[in-house]
Amino acid sequence: MKGLSKYNFNVSEIFYSIQGEGTRAGLPCVFVRLQGCRLRCSWCDTPYALEINQTETLMNGAEIIEKIKSYDCHFVEFTGGEPFEQAEIHQVMKHLVDLGFVVAVETSGYIDLAFADKRIIKILDVKCPGSGMSKKNKYENFEYLTKIDEVKFVIADRADYDFAKGICDKYSLGSKCDSILFSPVFGKLDNLQLAEWILADRLNVRMQVQMHKYIWHPDKRGV
Ligand code: SF4
Repeated sequence: MKGLSKYNFNVSEIFYSIQGEGTRAGLPCVFVRLQGCRLRCSWCDTPYALEINQTETLMNGAEIIEKIKSYDCHFVEFTGGEPFEQAEIHQVMKHLVDLGFVVAVETSGYIDLAFADKRIIKILDVKCPGSGMSKKNKYENFEYLTKIDEVKFVIADRADYDFAKGICDKYSLGSKCDSILFSPVFGKLDNLQLAEWILADRLNVRMQVQMHKYIWHPDKRGV
């Protein structure tokens, strides 16, 4: 693993759990949560992973890959925080794909995705107004979407829903990737309400709930 030992990543946690979101919900998955995010979404459920200057576990790329291999699971998701704030992680992801892993990354919309390996499944989180961070969306990133990618809207209320619908239309997101995810903010927007809005508008989107928050206690870490 030449070149992967040079940079030490600030890692919040690495754990093995059930994927709770997206088109692969329900599959066992290794999660690599990197520390640090410049956004402050009002409903963020990983406040412990936001401060990049708060050093958690320092691991180089080779050590991260060894840890991932120890779980004997071929599906890996990088999350955060914002994984691409530590830009060298691109090399680790690329190496994992070369090794045959299925690699996904959950990324917020404010980091340039031009450098992301096309073989990696990008789950692009577009910030709705209720997050307080919608001005940070970098819509140019839609250019880098491919069919394997997913666009996610976390929806707190009707204004967020209308915003998400408008963005889907304006950027023809349905033609850019196969999965557009509408996800209610846990504990804030009723699941049934969101389902009814989607059905009333005949939207061709995938509604999702965060399955892990129903399996385990919603505040439990490492799942
Ligand atoms: S982008 Fe993600 S990690 Fe960053 S504040 Fe928002 S929800 Fe939290």
